[in-house]
Amino acid sequence: MSLTHLLIRQARLEPNRPAILRGSALHAAYGEWAARSAALAQRMREAGLAPGDRVLLFMHNHPRYLEILWAAWWAGLVVVPVNAKLHASEVEWIVANAEARWGFVTADVAPQALAGLGVQVDVDSAQADELLTPVACATPLAPVERAANDVAWLFYTSGTTGRPKGVMITQRNLMTMGLAYFVDVDTVSSGDAMVYAAPMSHGCGLYAIPHLMAGARHVVPASGGVDPAELFALGRTLGPLSTFAAPTIVKRLVDHAEAHGLTPEDAAASFKTIVYGGAPMYVADIERALRVMGPRFVQIYGQGETPMAATALARRHLTNSAHPQHLARLASVGVAQTPVEVRIASADGADLPVGETGEVLVRGDTVMAGYWRNPEATAAAMRGGWLYTGDIGALDEAGFLTLKDRSKDLIISGGSNIYPREVEEVLLTAPGVAEVAVVGAADAEWGEVVVAFVVAQRGARIAEAELDAHCLTRIARFKRPKRYVFVDELPKNHYGKVLKTALRERLRAQADAPTAGD
Ligand code: AMP
Repeated sequence: MSLTHLLIRQARLEPNRPAILRGSALHAAYGEWAARSAALAQRMREAGLAPGDRVLLFMHNHPRYLEILWAAWWAGLVVVPVNAKLHASEVEWIVANAEARWGFVTADVAPQALAGLGVQVDVDSAQADELLTPVACATPLAPVERAANDVAWLFYTSGTTGRPKGVMITQRNLMTMGLAYFVDVDTVSSGDAMVYAAPMSHGCGLYAIPHLMAGARHVVPASGGVDPAELFALGRTLGPLSTFAAPTIVKRLVDHAEAHGLTPEDAAASFKTIVYGGAPMYVADIERALRVMGPRFVQIYGQGETPMAATALARRHLTNSAHPQHLARLASVGVAQTPVEVRIASADGADLPVGETGEVLVRGDTVMAGYWRNPEATAAAMRGGWLYTGDIGALDEAGFLTLKDRSKDLIISGGSNIYPREVEEVLLTAPGVAEVAVVGAADAEWGEVVVAFVVAQRGARIAEAELDAHCLTRIARFKRPKRYVFVDELPKNHYGKVLKTALRERLRAQADAPTAGD
């Protein structure tokens, strides 16, 4: 069993069906995609790459991304897609750690040679054209057989602290994730189009698998990234698009729709399904998204260690506003996806009853094989067959999981636990607030106090006293922020996650700075 067979099957079935597009222009039909991947696979094997060797992709979103991924799998190799926004030195660290031998790059992200790579191919060069030109000989390379537990993708965790770890994602993990999409996320037909606006090195790229399974079109926008006007227009041209987006991207799409007076029907003409996840989606934001764009949304919760597949909040749960638990469900990440079990455990791994808050554990066929050459980290994250996600949450009677926070983000003030997410949800409903991030600051009296970083909506002026009054009527007094810091923007990592570590460091630096008169 191997991901390669998904491509071979489609190429045999409908070789002329459009497969990969750049904007609205055809880049490859299914038959061409398979022929190019087979050709590159053969050339990599002839150049000495052996099954299990690692191949780096350090590229902006590009139609050739998919051809290279499947070429690598065809040759039995392991792909190492890294985010295009990483610094060259960070990528070189990954190259060394993964011992990647070949690398595919776009010149804008890697203008120079990366240290440690034996071969570096610019995907827009004549060399790449040659490598991908279908081989003329009668018998192209047969796909190299892979076992279900062989590693297919080394995913370096985005890691807000410390060195990234290489998550070993197997053929089985990816196949299972792809199949679960059809049950837990959405149906896909061959007429559909998946658009890669978010980085293909991450969740968005993984969704190539279910869309290949269904023989759908794979669209890389001409800009290669997120341009709401371009995406809305592309959907009108190609038919409604499906995509994966972090909540910050969803917000940009909704802002665009609102600013241009688009109706939910207009949104339906451009988008079939927007899957969101990767970071918290606040209730106020998803309510607005549903109001402006209509029932286009599905949420997933996962992590590199169980890619795209821990829980899902289905369209019907997002839209059933008559349900007595509707708001609680909007605040949740949904129920366990079909291939996994989810439970909540105390620090010692014991099961916690419904409603109690503890660490989220996941078990099933999407869970990684472990961390690359890091048995200590693997032993810490995988215990008794369960993945310890480091996320804190609670399950309700019906199985809906509500995430509180990452364990390290929990604030303990005067001995009470405060989950920043809860305070953030409340502040986001205050007039004039666009974004907010709540963290703990060291405090001699309380241990930690709650500090809120607030980004105001354009043109809005917000008074601290108003925010305080807003909190007082909605959450316990001890959870209210003791301080507000107004900022123009929040620090975020390459995937749009707020860097709470940076905010905490900022508070620490301020506390350490000598004050006037010292
Ligand atoms: P990564 O491994 O970079 O994909 O990051 C995974 C982490 O992102 C998870 O452990 C969660 O903390 C967070 N995350 C992912 N999906 C969601 C979601 N739907 N809601 C809230 N947080 C999420």
